[in-house]
Amino acid sequence: MKTLQKQDKIYEGKAKILYTTKRPKLLVQYFKDDATAFDATKRGTIVEKGIYNNKISQRLFELLKKEGVPTHFVRLLSDREMLVKKIEIVPVEVTVRNIVAGGMSKMLGLEEGIVLERPVLEYHYKNDSLHDPLINDDHILALKLATPKELAKIKKLSHKVNDVLRKFFAEIGITLVDFKLEFGRYPAGAPKTTILLGDEISPDTCRFWDSATKEKLDKDRFRRDLGNVEEAYKEIFRRISSHA
Ligand code: 5GP
Repeated sequence: MKTLQKQDKIYEGKAKILYTTKRPKLLVQYFKDDATAFDATKRGTIVEKGIYNNKISQRLFELLKKEGVPTHFVRLLSDREMLVKKIEIVPVEVTVRNIVAGGMSKMLGLEEGIVLERPVLEYHYKNDSLHDPLINDDHILALKLATPKELAKIKKLSHKVNDVLRKFFAEIGITLVDFKLEFGRYPAGAPKTTILLGDEISPDTCRFWDSATKEKLDKDRFRRDLGNVEEAYKEIFRRISSHA
């Protein structure tokens, strides 16, 4: 298939850029090396992060598709670019937690590493100026951020993604601690839409711990100045690639 060229930049985020293509329903998602943390108060570059996150996301989106989770991923275009379906992002970030870490540890005063009896789903309103506040189902429905049907679908898909990814990562010696997902409506702007998983799935958006050593293999190495940041992204890519 011929490579679709990127045209106009329509969005630039902290880690990715979206470009239009000549096909109105398709975009190019470009992965940058820029890294930010703590509401973008900490900034830096993780060399070749964009390449690894693009390819890690590709592999995980393909796996999820095979397991029945619809995603925006269409195909890989280059080292840093993937072709995706244009979606209208639901302004709710879904966090799925299997083990206490990060925000949950801080919010509830719990020690990092406590294994949760069952996965915890959290919703955050996607709004940088409000610092992505924690919200619940009632906020989502009352503010019409999603319809009841959409929310039910988002919840079901989030649990499914957790089941699929947890098993996959366990097979390559990695514990999936937590992760963040974003969903969108497709086709964007149409009167009748379906929910697709969007964004990326990578060490930027997940916490991965080596199952044997508990070593952190994700963006926490950047957030907490733990060193060997590039190596962690590379190691996740290497392990994913080694899976049959
Ligand atoms: P926490 O709420 O503990 O900071 O984050 C939980 C999980 O979601 C972590 O794996 C983290 O990487 C991911 N996450 C939460 N919010 C964001 C965000 O705004 N950007 C990115 N890249 N990841 C996030």
